[in-house]
Amino acid sequence: MYKRYDYECPKCGFRDEFFCREDETPECPECHTSLRRLPSVPAVIGVTESLTHGRHTLESQFPGKDGQNQLQIVVEGARRHGYEPKATDNYYSSFARFPGDPRAFGPSSDPDGYIQHMSNKLNVPVYGIKSYKPKR
Ligand SMILES: [Zn+2]
Repeated sequence: MYKRYDYECPKCGFRDEFFCREDETPECPECHTSLRRLPSVPAVIGVTESLTHGRHTLESQFPGKDGQNQLQIVVEGARRHGYEPKATDNYYSSFARFPGDPRAFGPSSDPDGYIQHMSNKLNVPVYGIKSYKPKR
């Protein structure tokens, strides 16, 4: 059966979705290394209330000393994948396939819009303080 999977190149960092069989390993179009499959997204994603309420900056999302360390890991992960996190972003870890996944950053000004967008993009329902169904 053919399904959509996310792959990453362990050598050059290329990432994309491929439509292929489960036992297939596509090759990186950039450097021809065998791609590594990323963990698949659960069929249902939950987001917590704290994310949709009152967290207006990335920094306020990661309080304290532990928070600072986590934030650093997330920011470095994002930069390695070509995304520069903005102070006004929120990080929605439910959507992250690895720490700092660029797609897990959304504007803190519009969590509803971002979560609905991700629900559509991943074609999965998202549950939290509200529920979001994928729209095509
Ligand atoms: Zn590559």
